[in-house]
Amino acid sequence: MSLTLTSSTPATHVRAPMALGRCTLVGAGPGDPELLTLKALRAIQSATVLLVDDLVSDDIVAMAAPGARVIHVGKRGGCKSTPQSFIERLMIMAVREGEQVVRLKGGDPFIFGRGGEEVEHLAQAGIHVEVVNGITAGLAGLTSLGVPLTHRAHAQGVVFITGHAKPGSPGPDWRTLAATAHSARLTLVIYMGVSSAGSIQDELLSGLPPATPVVVVQNASLPLQRHAVGTLATLQRTIADNSLGSPSIIVVGDVLQGLAAAASSAQPALEKAA
Ligand code: SAH
Repeated sequence: MSLTLTSSTPATHVRAPMALGRCTLVGAGPGDPELLTLKALRAIQSATVLLVDDLVSDDIVAMAAPGARVIHVGKRGGCKSTPQSFIERLMIMAVREGEQVVRLKGGDPFIFGRGGEEVEHLAQAGIHVEVVNGITAGLAGLTSLGVPLTHRAHAQGVVFITGHAKPGSPGPDWRTLAATAHSARLTLVIYMGVSSAGSIQDELLSGLPPATPVVVVQNASLPLQRHAVGTLATLQRTIADNSLGSPSIIVVGDVLQGLAAAASSAQPALEKAA
C-alpha cells in the first residue's frame, strides 16, 4: 500500500523528544477558522504530525507549527481517500515514534466522523486518545442563516442523521423517522444526503406533510456558502435547480417556517427583477 505524504516543510520536521507521543482527535468545525475552539487551536499548534481530512479548511491547517508534518488523508485533488485501517496504523506508528499526533476532522469528530472507530482501534493498541469537540456542520448550517434548530413553538428536538450508510449496513428507516418527527415535532438534520435526496424525499413524504419546509446549506460558514429553501415535496428539485452539491446539510422541519415565508415573499421580487 502506498500513501502520498504531503508535508508543509518536510526538511525541518520536528520530532517530539518523548518516548511515547500522544494522540488527539480534534474537531476543526465547519470551515470558518473563527469557529475553532481554543482547545482545538492549542492542539493544532502543538502537533508535530497532523493527519487531515478533506473537509478541514486550508486556513485551519495553516495554523500548525512550522515544521509540523501535514498528511492529507482525504479525497482532495481527486485522489482516492486513504483507507481507514491505514490511517489508524499511521496514527499508532506516529504515537509510538514519540510524535504529538493530531487527527484533524471537519466538524465534530464524533458526529459522522469515524472518531469512535479510531478511538476504539487505538485503545486496542494501548493508546489513549483525547477528543476535542468541534462545531458540527448540522449546527453551523442553520445558525449561519439565523435560524434555530429548536424552538418552543415549532420543534421539541433534533435528529442528526446520515443519508449515506456504511456499505452493507441497512440505511436509516426514513418512514419510521418521518412519522416520529411529525408526532414528536423534531427537526431533521441530514448529513451526506444530497446524492440520495430523491429517495429520502419519497420516504419522508410517507409521514411528513409535503409542505414541510426544507433548506439545503452548502459550505456552511465558508465564504462559498450557498443555500436554497423549498418544501419536502420539492427537495430534489430545489437541489437540482440551485446546483447544490457536497458538502451540504439538508434540514427539514417546521422550525424553518419563518425562513420559508421570507424566501417566498422574496421570490416575486426576484421574478419581477428578472
Ligand atoms: N464530522 C462532520 C461530518 C462529516 S460527514 C461534522 O461534524 O460536521 C460529511 C458531511 O458533513 C458532508 O457530506 C455534509 O453533509 C456535512 N458537512 C460537513 N461540512 C459541511 C459544511 N461546511 N457545510 C455543509 N455541510 C457540511
